[in-house]
Amino acid sequence: MRFPMRAEQREQQWPALNPSQADGTECVMCEVNYLHPSVRDLVVSHVPVGVSTETGSQVFACAGICAALAWPD
Ligand SMILES: [Zn+2]
Repeated sequence: MRFPMRAEQREQQWPALNPSQADGTECVMCEVNYLHPSVRDLVVSHVPVGVSTETGSQVFACAGICAALAWPD
């Protein structure tokens, strides 16, 4: 797995996200809510993967498999 450079993270666009994803409070891949996670997700850490096309807000994916899926090689 590789992680994007900072400039790439800013440029990655994410269209058609739900409002919570676009606001940066949910994973763009699995929709885990980072503000109100279920018990099993309490320790989910997340990494920035770009910005919402609609809002321009920074969006996130869970560190690990979601981030890998969000940022394929
Ligand atoms: Zn996730």
